[in-house]
Amino acid sequence: MKIHCANPKAQFLSQHLEIEKAVLRVLRSDRYILGNEVIALEEEFAKYIGVENAIGVANGTDALEVAIRALGIGFTDEVITVSHTAVATVAAIESAGAVPILVDVDPLTFTINPLQLSEVISDRTKAIVVVHIYGQSVDLDAIQDFCQEHDLKLIEDVSQAHGASWKGKRLGSFGDVACFSCYPTKNLGAIGDAGLITTNNKELAKKIRMIREYGWQSRNISEIIGRNSRLDEIQASILRVKLRKLDSDNKKRNEIAAIYSEGLKGLPIILPIVNSNSISVFHLYVIRSKFRDRLKEYLIKSDIEPGIHYPVPIHLQPAYLNRIRTSSNMNVTETLASEILSLPMYPELNETQITRVITAVKKFYEKVVS
Ligand SMILES: *Cc1c(COP(=O)(O)O)cnc(C)c1O
Repeated sequence: MKIHCANPKAQFLSQHLEIEKAVLRVLRSDRYILGNEVIALEEEFAKYIGVENAIGVANGTDALEVAIRALGIGFTDEVITVSHTAVATVAAIESAGAVPILVDVDPLTFTINPLQLSEVISDRTKAIVVVHIYGQSVDLDAIQDFCQEHDLKLIEDVSQAHGASWKGKRLGSFGDVACFSCYPTKNLGAIGDAGLITTNNKELAKKIRMIREYGWQSRNISEIIGRNSRLDEIQASILRVKLRKLDSDNKKRNEIAAIYSEGLKGLPIILPIVNSNSISVFHLYVIRSKFRDRLKEYLIKSDIEPGIHYPVPIHLQPAYLNRIRTSSNMNVTETLASEILSLPMYPELNETQITRVITAVKKFYEKVVS
């Protein structure tokens, strides 16, 4: 049996009775968009993250775009982020009308390198989007200091780190605003598209709610320029069920990561490192290997499906090449792209499957490389 990199179906099966009940409740109700399920999810999620407000939107890319617009950032404004991220982060900045400026990442944690910020900042810089990649926090102390010093808005992209924390506080409670994707494979995943935005700023929350539905405050009157990024009731009802299990799922991910790290130590690969100020939720378990492509082929032949997050840095992808400004040194990002490999990681992985992955990686180094 093939071991997948992520497995939303296994997640559904582990909670199928509760999920089916929730969906049926919505089907038999008289409200399918922005109703009581969305309101309840927003309250429950805000409480979970430890913030005043949560707002449901259609997906994670929209969450970022709507948040950036709500902060009043747009045409000719510059927003700094990383090239080592899902393309959604950068696409959202441009969809909001702003100009993305990309910097390199730290070689140990793969998160934004705070030392590069002063090189790219200009008088048009308005915000930084930090990406808590693979489940682990960026260096929030350094970033918060920089934002404060230069009067920049801090936007957290928490799409890969639902439930993770920095110095005991949940991610999504540090920025002026924080954005979450609930794409099916994420730690908190819907069975379709969904997204969430969190903020402690009440005025900003109100503006976000308006932008997500045509700029309306009352029905059919657009007070500001808005769009449609509504969340539907079925997805909200499913996310409410899954939110209750998020902490125990994240704990399982950490346990699996610990077994991988123990089983793979001593091999010529670089294992994930977690910053001691941060609790990771291991959205992905990413190793680095000089023989990445051959290791990947070997695992596929062993019926194991690894992933690469991500194979081409955004500034080198056709849509962005020679068009997007970056810091002068993007070495880490560019090296990572050819060395990283995501091993299967999801809470429902069983012991036999974990052992099969470890054994296959070991065998590769014994038989193929040596
Ligand atoms: C998944 C993801 C997104 C985009 O979310 P969608 O819901 O697919 O639009 C944004 N940023 C990061 C870091 C992601 O991993």
